[in-house]
Amino acid sequence: MDFTGNLIVISGPSGTGKGTICKKLLDEHKTLTYSISATTRQPRTGETHGINYWFTDKIEFERMIEQEELLEWAEVYGNYYGTPLARVQEVLKNGQDVILEIDPQGAMNVKKKFPQGVFIYIIPPSMTELEKRIRGRGTDSDESIARRLKAACDEIRMGVYYNYVVVNDEITVAANKIAAIVEAEKCNVLRN
Ligand code: 5GP
Repeated sequence: MDFTGNLIVISGPSGTGKGTICKKLLDEHKTLTYSISATTRQPRTGETHGINYWFTDKIEFERMIEQEELLEWAEVYGNYYGTPLARVQEVLKNGQDVILEIDPQGAMNVKKKFPQGVFIYIIPPSMTELEKRIRGRGTDSDESIARRLKAACDEIRMGVYYNYVVVNDEITVAANKIAAIVEAEKCNVLRN
């Protein structure tokens, strides 16, 4: 038994609403710490450096890979995304839970390094609903939507590698389910 927090990985196909669910979860559970990822993607309107992401360039990102400063990293739709390792270690050492909201490749890379993490997979209620959500964001071209849907089909099958699968029918219900999982895992004697 140790006294560190749990590393909670929340993943799922693009557009399943994992970002919105995480935001709700973190707004309502202030003891949880969000791991801010580094990315080479350009900021979207309303995004802030150091809150949504650490926005960086390719050279700096590759330096972080080289220096082993990332717990995991992946290339998603042509941009790099990665989890800074030091912050995750610091939060866990303080006995707090840390939330990583990352893509499925990244989640599987974390699982290899840190199998005692809690791996939660969010899936959309249907492919039609997923397409509606991606279109609704209004940020993707038709080509990008088709690419994301094809990737989502492949990714949905990945749920078998996770500890929990949560269907995102409704944001509040899904966020409450994840909060319940996080609480239950604090009492899990096998994990802790
Ligand atoms: P977006 O560009 O829409 O913010 O994110 C695109 C994808 O990258 C999402 O699936 C998101 O979960 C994922 N992502 C965000 N941060 C990280 C990270 O640090 N590592 C990995 N592997 N994926 C990430």
